[in-house]
Amino acid sequence: MSLLELSNVDSYYGESHILRDVTMNVEEGEICALLGRNGAGKTTTLRSIAGATPPEVRDGTVSFKGRDITGTPAEDVSAGGISLVPEERRIFPNLTVAENLHLAEVVRNKSNTWGRSLSFDREGMSTEEVYAQFPRLDERRGQKAGTLSGGEQQMLAIARALKQNTDLLLLDEPYEGLAPKIIEDVEDAVERISDDGTTILLVEQNAAAAIKLADRAYVIDQGGIVFDGTAEELRDDEETRERYLGV
Ligand code: ATP
Repeated sequence: MSLLELSNVDSYYGESHILRDVTMNVEEGEICALLGRNGAGKTTTLRSIAGATPPEVRDGTVSFKGRDITGTPAEDVSAGGISLVPEERRIFPNLTVAENLHLAEVVRNKSNTWGRSLSFDREGMSTEEVYAQFPRLDERRGQKAGTLSGGEQQMLAIARALKQNTDLLLLDEPYEGLAPKIIEDVEDAVERISDDGTTILLVEQNAAAAIKLADRAYVIDQGGIVFDGTAEELRDDEETRERYLGV
């Protein structure tokens, strides 16, 4: 059984039919990449998994740990162990690093009492564990989040997700807008989190960077999966990369 399975998922924004028959799975412990051009349907896929609305999943099923979670409200999905780090990062710029992390804990405690429709195996990381994973954040505990660099803000957004009980981390374009050197820092952080046992679904337009870390990859185009294979197979598949990823 895969940790996450999407079977023939169709998602809509109102009348707009965006995801078409999307079938994919993410295995426990792996880094799985979902790649595709701007507007291909990557964010819509993540939102369909996380229970965020819109979109609406009108056909097919999303299952997590063998349970059908299609249509489950986002806070219950989150309490069940899936954390989405959205592209826009959503940190609180006027709060310090420590305060941002503390807020994540408050949210976690609430969602644990609100949403018990799913079981969860992992406790969220303690603040000290988070700082051990992200030494940069440790050094900047008292600094306002809005004054961090783009890469540090991305790390803070990921750290907040890990403070919740996360079995599956959904990362939406974590390298977006970052300089190459900073991308490397975020990559290191993603690798450490993976080594620590968290399963990761990594959505990227930056295919080269994503393929480097990923075990397996899917390519999506116009709302449909057009490639499914190992990262190595995608690296060797020039036609797919040129046609759908422009690299
Ligand atoms: P990006 O790199 O822009 O994030 P993406 O692959 O994540 O690209 P999606 O954001 O999933 O793409 O968008 C897929 C399609 O759904 C696009 O055609 C987009 O215009 C449409 N779409 C996205 N959000 C909405 C919305 N709230 N209402 C209507 N259509 C939407």
